[in-house]
Amino acid sequence: MKKQLLTALVPAYNEEDCIYELYNRVTNVLKGLKNYDYEILVINDGSKDNTLSILEELHAKDKHIEYVNLARNYGKETAMAAGFDYAKGDVVVILDADLQTPPELIPEMLKYYEEGYDDVYGRRKSRDDETFLKRFGTKLYYKALQSLTRVDILKNTSDFRMLSRRAVEALKKYREQRRYTKGIFALIGFKKKEFLYMPAARFAGKTKWNYLSLLNLAVEGITSFSTFPLRLSSILGFVTALVGFIYILFLVIKTLIFGADIKGYPTLLSVIIFLGGIQLLSLGVIGEYLGRIFNEVKNRPLYLVEKYSGDNK
Ligand code: UDP
Ligand code: MG
Repeated sequence: MKKQLLTALVPAYNEEDCIYELYNRVTNVLKGLKNYDYEILVINDGSKDNTLSILEELHAKDKHIEYVNLARNYGKETAMAAGFDYAKGDVVVILDADLQTPPELIPEMLKYYEEGYDDVYGRRKSRDDETFLKRFGTKLYYKALQSLTRVDILKNTSDFRMLSRRAVEALKKYREQRRYTKGIFALIGFKKKEFLYMPAARFAGKTKWNYLSLLNLAVEGITSFSTFPLRLSSILGFVTALVGFIYILFLVIKTLIFGADIKGYPTLLSVIIFLGGIQLLSLGVIGEYLGRIFNEVKNRPLYLVEKYSGDNK
């Protein structure tokens, strides 16, 4: 029987302190697999440190390790997309370069793959290791996302996943610029299987996410999977118009009965401010979507590759 090829796909940005350890641990695990050949495909996402030269050095020694050097930093979401394009494996597993996703779990994931699952995804056992603010925010966010979108975006899943070839081919069809991969995983469907794991601590270096970039990703998630905020502006507009109309009736009748008076400055001002606020908010929401349309319409390439270590694709 011909062995299947497994690709370990690793997006890496400024991970010079992790790459050797990553290489050693992943190699250790993958060498032990009897039924699989393997490649370790690192997507160097425009690192500014020595990540690239370490990859070159490792590739020179061991052809199991391949790398794609992106032209600049595109972010993890796009780096993963590049990985899907360049992965040769019959099965692809996505790992973090910082070893927070333990490679030792790959054999366990493979069992599910062999049972016929297309998308074996890791879900964190608990979020006890995170700060209260992050936990609370995540919880609220998933609630909102869940109720706004029609696709079932799974809570607390990570990008730690094993994908069959046909799942990867499906993912490759989604070429959107502003990517929310977690949602795209949900969109493609196929047979999914969850497994629980506890993310390890970062091996070295610092996380590239901060609250602001997380918030950005969160907005991305909602705006690329739901048009509800747009509808919300219509609803808000409708409700305020209705209230305004009733108020006008009230004023007209009151004036007819009691005559006009020139009081009411505070009412006037608060109405103006309130309406102004709603108008700006609605404009902002429309702007968010318009910006996305603008970005997609330009049809720019998702990423540019400076170098691929493997046979040309
Ligand atoms: N990463 C990337 N491009 C970026 C930021 C991050 O490829 O612009 C990679 C990073 O090297 C790591 C993975 O994405 O392998 C997860 O990043 P990080 O550990 O910073 O995120 P966290 O684990 O804290 O969510
Ligand atoms: Mg990490």
